[in-house]
Amino acid sequence: MNLILLGLPGAGKGTQAENLSKKYSIPHISTGDIFRNAIKNNTELGKIAKEVIDSGGLVPDEITNEIVRERLKEDDCTDGFILDGFPRTINQAEALETMLENMNKTLDLALYIKVAREELIKRLTHRRTCSNCGATYHLDYNPPKEEGICDKCGGELIQRSDDTEEVVKERLEVNQENLMRLLDFYDKRNKLTTVKSNAGIDEVFEKIDNIVKEKVL
Ligand code: ADP
Ligand code: AMP
Repeated sequence: MNLILLGLPGAGKGTQAENLSKKYSIPHISTGDIFRNAIKNNTELGKIAKEVIDSGGLVPDEITNEIVRERLKEDDCTDGFILDGFPRTINQAEALETMLENMNKTLDLALYIKVAREELIKRLTHRRTCSNCGATYHLDYNPPKEEGICDKCGGELIQRSDDTEEVVKERLEVNQENLMRLLDFYDKRNKLTTVKSNAGIDEVFEKIDNIVKEKVL
């Protein structure tokens, strides 16, 4: 099962990628998570990524493409992958096409999770993330059992530095035009399916799972 999840920041890509990953035992690959780990470990990549992420921009394509190229070669991707947050530009989509060709793999589905802008702002500004394991919560829609504490690992929940209202608006601007181009790119290749995410997390997962069963399995 080779999937990509498309959608603006806050659409629910990470949440649903995690659900799919658990159900089908396929790795969830989030470029955002890879960059945040690099920042946490203060690596060279982390230094570059921090500046870009905090301003709401995009990490350069050459860097991002190389990271995904290496990640897709790992053994756990043999039976598939769920890409979340990649590709974000046409350059990345073209690079992914070449990577898959070189590995004799094909993309099964590009699933676009569609959410209204007002709702995205609510989802992002009220998102909380575990500083230890990266699990995500929402203050209203998906709160942790104990305030400020991760259900999964007991880590401290924080607001991501790029989930403040100011950076969120910039991120939505930066991603909007690229997303339109990507939707067109995958539509032309007959890979695109859209799911409206105007319902709760479980209901949206049911819709996504039905699409996966119909189109991929
Ligand atoms: P993305 O990975 O696309 O940026 P996330 O999966 O982190 O988005 O979701 C953004 C926020 O919205 C999180 O706080 C998450 O708990 C919440 N969320 C995700 N899907 C839904 C949904 N269908 N309804 C309500 N809240 C949701
Ligand atoms: P995300 O966790 O997907 O919201 O990503 C957080 C931030 O990481 C983004 O706002 C970008 O700055 C950076 N990022 C993640 N994925 C990519 C990508 N595919 N290309 C460029 N930058 C990315």
